[in-house]
Amino acid sequence: MITAVREVSVFGDAIAYFNEAAALLDLDPGIRRLLIKPSRQIIFAIPFIRDSGEMEVFTGYRVQYNFARGPAKGGIRYHPGVTLDEVTALAFWMTWKCAVVDLPFGGGKGGVTCDPLTLSRGELERITRRYAAELVEVVGPDKDVPAPDVGTTPQIMAWFMDTYSMHVRQHVPGVVTGKPLEIGGSRGRVEATGRGVSLVALAQMRRMGLDPKGATVVVQGFGNVGSIAAKLLVEAGCRIVAISDVTGAYHNESGIDVAGAVAYAQEHHSLDGYRGGERITNETLLELPCDVLVPAALEKQLTVENASRVQAKLIVEGANGPTTPEADRIFAERGIVIIPDILANAGGVTVSYFEWAQDRAGYFWKESEVNERLADIMLEHFAKVSEVAQMRNVTLRTAAYMLAIDRVVKSMHMRGVYA
Ligand code: NAD
Repeated sequence: MITAVREVSVFGDAIAYFNEAAALLDLDPGIRRLLIKPSRQIIFAIPFIRDSGEMEVFTGYRVQYNFARGPAKGGIRYHPGVTLDEVTALAFWMTWKCAVVDLPFGGGKGGVTCDPLTLSRGELERITRRYAAELVEVVGPDKDVPAPDVGTTPQIMAWFMDTYSMHVRQHVPGVVTGKPLEIGGSRGRVEATGRGVSLVALAQMRRMGLDPKGATVVVQGFGNVGSIAAKLLVEAGCRIVAISDVTGAYHNESGIDVAGAVAYAQEHHSLDGYRGGERITNETLLELPCDVLVPAALEKQLTVENASRVQAKLIVEGANGPTTPEADRIFAERGIVIIPDILANAGGVTVSYFEWAQDRAGYFWKESEVNERLADIMLEHFAKVSEVAQMRNVTLRTAAYMLAIDRVVKSMHMRGVYA
């Protein structure tokens, strides 16, 4: 096991948002220095045997960014682009995301640099078991609680939980969240992030005097977050005028049939060939006239290149890091409101918290209870962030960071520095 610390681009961008908010808080310089350093970064080799019998070696990562408010919490990403830098940035964001909705967790994230689409089920299982085995000493319900992220699934969480449980010789469902229901998953977890996105989008629309009935919405990314947010916004009366996925974008001014598009994507594994709208490019999609834009695909989609052409009145960040700091400044100047990722997509980790709590209690809630408590948390903290934004005359993003940083720093001060 090797540990290393470095700061490069994605993490650098992430720190830019932190710095803007930290400058407005009267932070102790030592605390500020500490907050831009991850507590622990772990890199390790993952050897495994291919189905062909050949040995292959991948690289695994886990970053535990901050523990002030509780065990580290954050997903595991399986993607060819995974680097220590990216995982560190994602763990940094998780710290503020958990704090902004006041969950008793710190921030963490992990990943394996691999392309899961090219791996068989058996290979994925062997990689996951080795990944989990490498981390046995540093994860656990009171240490660090992983979850799914891009490229990982409830099945992968089940293998992680089984490997950990075998090592410690007891049943420990609370070591990971996002598990299948049969082994301690929570009802409502699959829909949680999209549900949270739609809740805060509707709350902000009401504040802006935008009637959801007939409001136009563009959604980039039609996976878990994008498709569920779209479905729930339609239920509230909105008209989804464009959707997209990695294969292309589709525009229909009179409204995409979201349920039909979900069924199409399920059957064909993507929207490729979807006929419910005119085919446009992903670039055009982001620049369509609309009331609300929901980027729910990838990082760095709204940049200095396209920010001046975006026509939405409100942007709700379903994805992590879809807006670069430069684009963020352009939107602020243009009066376009953004509900930042650390708040807008916090519904997923909130229901992960419910899953962890249910696993520890051994008592499981009804789906209506999960959804009700999720709405309470999202709307309570959305209101608090809005209040700080108004009081301090800052954007919702800066306000969300200020609130989150303040909560983390208070915990750090109360705990003090262990000599
Ligand atoms: P997903 O894999 O289910 O869906 C991603 C979607 O984006 C797919 O439809 C994919 O085709 C599309 N996409 C990929 N590249 C694209 C491109 N260039 N243009 C347009 N669409 C593209 O993933 P997800 O779980 O929905 O996650 C989406 C984002 O939300 C990620 O940034 C993720 O980190 C973030 N997020 C997810 C959760 C969660 O609980 N799932 C929680 C918090 C944040």
